[in-house]
Amino acid sequence: MQIQGTLTEQHNHEHISHAFTVPEGATRIDIDFQYEPKRTGNYGNLLTLSLFDPQGERGTGHRGQPTQHITLSTSDATPGYIPGPLQPGEWDIMVNANLINPGANVTYDFKITIGFDKLPTTAPPSYQRGTTNPRSPGWYRGDLHAHTVHSDGSWDVDGLVGFAREHKLDFITLTDHNTVSALKQMESFSADDLLTMGGFELTTFYGHALALGIRDLIDWRVRPGKRSMIDAFNEVNAANGLFVIAHPMAPGDPVCTGCQWDYEDVMPAPARVVEVWNEEWESMSNNNDAVQLWYQWLNQGHRLAATVGTDIHGPRPGFEFGFNVVYAEALTEQAILEGIRRGHLYLSTGPQLSFTGTSPSGQTTMIGDTLKGENYTLNLEWTGCREGDRLRLIVDGDVKEETTLEPTGAKSWQLSGKHWYVIEIRDTRDYMRALTNPIFAE
Ligand SMILES: [Zn+2]
Ligand SMILES: [Zn+2]
Repeated sequence: MQIQGTLTEQHNHEHISHAFTVPEGATRIDIDFQYEPKRTGNYGNLLTLSLFDPQGERGTGHRGQPTQHITLSTSDATPGYIPGPLQPGEWDIMVNANLINPGANVTYDFKITIGFDKLPTTAPPSYQRGTTNPRSPGWYRGDLHAHTVHSDGSWDVDGLVGFAREHKLDFITLTDHNTVSALKQMESFSADDLLTMGGFELTTFYGHALALGIRDLIDWRVRPGKRSMIDAFNEVNAANGLFVIAHPMAPGDPVCTGCQWDYEDVMPAPARVVEVWNEEWESMSNNNDAVQLWYQWLNQGHRLAATVGTDIHGPRPGFEFGFNVVYAEALTEQAILEGIRRGHLYLSTGPQLSFTGTSPSGQTTMIGDTLKGENYTLNLEWTGCREGDRLRLIVDGDVKEETTLEPTGAKSWQLSGKHWYVIEIRDTRDYMRALTNPIFAE
């Protein structure tokens, strides 16, 4: 069968459904999709596809090439889509109009062929879940944001896992755009030396959020007047996941479609975690602005934890990435997510930090926690800094003190009053090398 359509700028940011029927006994669907023109004006038009069977979503291919091919069968599927039995009945192939430029007249054409009994029915690949030694309570280092060929990445799951091993990470997280199709494969790579975690990047036309720990996709078609981001947030929480506002200050359309965080009702309430550092420090994501936004939210009284995500899509040799260093009760996905929820982490390209508070009674407070008492001491110890690195003590969002550091050292401050404190370590170019979560004093 053949389906055709035309989209103009009025269709920008719509999800456009097309029904087709899968007959009894079908074992394979092939879909060819083409659109043109690829560009209108200075920017590319960007259409992606999602497939729904009568029971729910069968995957999304979040990549905008003007020629796309999808195969879905009982035994295998194009990355991003989920293989398995094909239920007969009405299916939907949806066009997601991520970007239709002003003045555009985009025409598209689906060719759908449905194969029957001719192919032998085999089971989809089964992956055995790997296990990780949960070890003891401690600081664990890892990444929370990455992509593969299952959305718009260039490497497969094994490439991502190789990146984690190369950087000697304790955990690595796959968050493809609007699909969970690779999570079982990802879990099969868990081993004693590496915990593989998962979720997906809830990718909308008005902002991206990481839904960490989520294995069953939740409806990501959030948009004004149709489905609220607060509902999506609540569903991630109800499923024991962790909702993270991703790269809030990245540019939006048409430079990076949907990348800027535009949800006025989630600025940040009720969100509790924000990715203030996306990709390498000096990236398109405007990380300095994201840190300032986070400081502003903290000053408004929101207790919000900050994370870093490489958002890596394929090999990036030579880039200096920051990773999360999380205090967790164990090296398990739920314990890592709980550590982040509590703000028990700092972000670092290499420096190792210990930042604590001590109350007059001698009680010690860690990053993310609250120090009680009018007068108190803050203690910082560091190793792994470089020549020229500078330490900044941030108090309520302002730089209170700035000094050059020796590679290894310690420092303490006698302080008082109700404030929040963050440590920044910046290099000679002013790039962030390490950033702590706050210690709050009340
Ligand atoms: Zn994103
Ligand atoms: Zn991403």
